[in-house]
Amino acid sequence: MTPLPPGSTIGILGGGQLGRMLASAAAELGYHTHILAPDAESVAAQTASSFTRADYHSRIVLDEMAARCNVVTYEFENIAIEPVTYLSTRVPVHPAPQALAIAQDRASEKAFVDAIGGRTAPWRRVATLDELQAALTEIGAPAILKTLRLGYDGKGQVRIANAAEAAAAWDAIGQRPAILEGFVSFSHEFSIILARGHDGAMVSYPPPWNEHKDGILARSSLPAPAEIANQWGVAAALTGRIADQLGYVGVIACEFFATAEGPVFNEMAPRVHNSGHWTIEGAVASQFENHIRAICGLPLGDPSRLSDARMLNLIGDDINDAEKYRAMPGTKVHLYGKKETRPGRKMGHVTFVQPISAARRPAAE
Ligand code: AMP
Repeated sequence: MTPLPPGSTIGILGGGQLGRMLASAAAELGYHTHILAPDAESVAAQTASSFTRADYHSRIVLDEMAARCNVVTYEFENIAIEPVTYLSTRVPVHPAPQALAIAQDRASEKAFVDAIGGRTAPWRRVATLDELQAALTEIGAPAILKTLRLGYDGKGQVRIANAAEAAAAWDAIGQRPAILEGFVSFSHEFSIILARGHDGAMVSYPPPWNEHKDGILARSSLPAPAEIANQWGVAAALTGRIADQLGYVGVIACEFFATAEGPVFNEMAPRVHNSGHWTIEGAVASQFENHIRAICGLPLGDPSRLSDARMLNLIGDDINDAEKYRAMPGTKVHLYGKKETRPGRKMGHVTFVQPISAARRPAAE
């Protein structure tokens, strides 16, 4: 495709921190951004060119968005599929709604990855307590019960230590359609962040070691330990196959468990990802820049790592430590502009980079 010229407008569905950082990257590339989100507080709107506060389902609003934008993307995967599909009939939407539909449903996601030769934990779809009990007999315990839809940051999932806990677990997830997944014994968790362009070109970032606390990403560190680095090739190849199969345009993130048998696919996000925030300071072109480049038809940017990097999420009251981090050498603090601090809410992040040592710095600096 002919690259969108500077001055074009990128529409973003969703008003959170990912949209905020996408809008900043778009501005650096000379583009305008327009945010559509229903929330009173849209932290993405603070860095975007314009903002419509409205429900995603209004056809009038969607028509207006299609008319003012040259391309539309989204920054969270739990958006309803209908408005995205509707928009795609009026304006190019990337990633395509099909990727969103697969990522929104854990069973479709796992079946899709199984079908293209990826390794997943053993899993079964369960719609009733009887089916859960049967699946537990087949897969064995320990296992994890995850709602089919609308799960994120460890929400909508519960561990089952033994068969006697089945009924309580079924109640705990609200008796909703779910999948039961065998418990994976892993040494580390990591993610592959890959950008794919209109022409099928792909770049992927070195994978960070991701550490979670209470189901929420706490830290991403690079370089990753050997257990992850050794699995980079296989995991990146699978992520590339996923992107190719979907005709994907933009940044996709796949999360993996590093196991003795190789990488086990956990889940995908059809968007930029928290475990890629380190790329703002730590890579030549950030994940946000590469998403914008991909959807606008520009050649993809260089994903090479510039420095050792560690990204720490500031969750809830962690934001009170922002001053402390800001005073440290080699740190970059990002605050998301959220008014209200709540437990479990992502308020910002800090990236620790490894500055060039004084010994290696030219005397003139
Ligand atoms: P998810 O929402 O699927 O990303 O799961 C949140 C976290 O729960 C993951 O990052 C893992 O730490 C853990 N987890 C999820 N699925 C499994 C599994 N099948 N085996 C072991 N741990 C898991």
